[in-house]
Amino acid sequence: MRLIFLGPPGVGKGTQAKRVCENFNIIHLSTGDILRAEMAAESEIGKKAKSFIDNGKLVPDEVLLRIMDNRLKNDDAQKGYLLDGFPRTIPQAEGLDKIMENKSHILNAAVSLTADEDELVQRLINRGLESGRSDDTPSVIRQRQKVYWDQTAPLLKYYKNKNLLKEVDGLGNISEITKRILRVLK
Ligand code: AMP
Repeated sequence: MRLIFLGPPGVGKGTQAKRVCENFNIIHLSTGDILRAEMAAESEIGKKAKSFIDNGKLVPDEVLLRIMDNRLKNDDAQKGYLLDGFPRTIPQAEGLDKIMENKSHILNAAVSLTADEDELVQRLINRGLESGRSDDTPSVIRQRQKVYWDQTAPLLKYYKNKNLLKEVDGLGNISEITKRILRVLK
């Protein structure tokens, strides 16, 4: 099983991704987690990514495409994966198509989790108080929402045109949402 998770910041992609990966026994690849690990390690990629992340902007496409091309070569990615937070732009989606084609990997679905924007901003402000994530502050949250609608939302149409888009209501209790996702993937 090879999946993409789409949805605005705060919709619960990470939480649902983990549960769906357990169900299918596939790996969870979150580009946000990968970039935060690079920042913590103060690697070249991490240093480059930091200013983009802290300002709620997207890290350049070529950086993400290089990371994912390498990561999807690993043995643990051959049985299946769920991509959480990638692709986030049309060039990333086109790049991913090429990367997958080269590896003869077929995408099963792009799951889009949907929710009301004001609810999401409040959730993220609450998460920021707990997680201490440097980009969970109100102004950066608004910026990340804007980036989602400007740069990532066009992917909904991109995957709809390929007949791969599955939209799922992301509001409600955690296990109910997981059930909804698993239902559309049957
Ligand atoms: P996330 O944890 O998915 O919300 O990602 C946190 C931040 O990491 C984003 O606001 C971006 O700055 C950066 N990031 C994560 N994934 C990507 C991606 N696919 N393309 C560009 N930037 C990304």
